[in-house]
Amino acid sequence: MTTITLRSVADLAEAGLVGEAQVARLADVGVAYAIALPQPLAALIDPADASDPIARQYVPSPEELEIQPGESADPIGDARHSPVPGLVHRYRDRVLIKAASTCPVYCRFCFRREMVGPEKGEALTKTDLDAIFAYIEGQPEIFEVILTGGDPLMLSAARAREITRRLEAIDHVKLIRWHTRMPVTRPDRITPAYAEALSSQTKAVFLAVHANHAREFKPDAVAACRRLASQGIALVSQSVLLRGVNDSVEALGDLMRAFLSAGIKPYYLHQLDAAPGTAHFRVPVEEGQRLVRALRDNASGLAVPHYVIDIPGGVSKASLALSDIERRDDRWAVRGRDGEIYPLAD
Ligand SMILES: *Cc1c(COP(=O)(O)O)cnc(C)c1O
Ligand code: SF4
Repeated sequence: MTTITLRSVADLAEAGLVGEAQVARLADVGVAYAIALPQPLAALIDPADASDPIARQYVPSPEELEIQPGESADPIGDARHSPVPGLVHRYRDRVLIKAASTCPVYCRFCFRREMVGPEKGEALTKTDLDAIFAYIEGQPEIFEVILTGGDPLMLSAARAREITRRLEAIDHVKLIRWHTRMPVTRPDRITPAYAEALSSQTKAVFLAVHANHAREFKPDAVAACRRLASQGIALVSQSVLLRGVNDSVEALGDLMRAFLSAGIKPYYLHQLDAAPGTAHFRVPVEEGQRLVRALRDNASGLAVPHYVIDIPGGVSKASLALSDIERRDDRWAVRGRDGEIYPLAD
């Protein structure tokens, strides 16, 4: 069965996801940033709900043309750390490969929105890939290789397998990590053969699943995660804290429990990066800290992700979570899950 993808404001209007009055206002958004929404995902949207959390992530809004001071086309400074095209080497022991520049959906808050889309980025050529693998081979401190994009699971199973094989041939690389939204956006693409193409008998394989709302986990998404896990692939999560999508204790708790139910260990909750036209998604840090603390006080330890920000400009990530420990009257004091402070003996 072929999956239909809505790819323009006109497609979205025809599907009843954009009002006729909005079509003209959204024309410029469609020119500036790619649009894609696969039909099965669109079917999750309640068109009668003006604040539907699925629509908010994928259906364009006129606010995307409102550029704020401090927003940047390269908010996390990837370009500064790219020794070879398509590769980012910011941390000593791990590198990123931008293996694809397209996605099955285009998220309206995407931090790489200026680089991602059918008309924006370019696919890596064979020469690019040869240069990337030669670079990794020449740097024995590289322990981990992260495949990102775009969505790297846009690669064919044959290409994904080829990347895995070439990394398996490099002795000092011990871990292969894929960052993808595919299990929730196009679970049908994760066939048993695709899961097998990502697997390895000699390297550890991790896959970070990006999702932002519990409703993204339909039964077929959960089944796709099970197919990956059955190939020995460890699953971790990645989410972005988004206004109107997951900015409540309840929505965040439900999302983390949805990950755990699919066998995915919550890993990162990202503070939104300052990409152009995304200010309407921003949740202030103090609010994020309160939400994450409430999650930690009330949910399984397994449900709590690291709350992090990429420091603008590309220095590194930093933790934003409040600490349980503080110095009080020359001693350490810790905060209990009951919210009380308990001084420690030393
Ligand atoms: C986030 C990131 C990584 C991975 O960081 P972890 O903290 O190991 O998940 C690697 N390289 C770059 C450039 C990154 O931005
Ligand atoms: S799937 Fe990732 S890279 Fe693609 S649009 Fe969404 S956030 Fe951006």
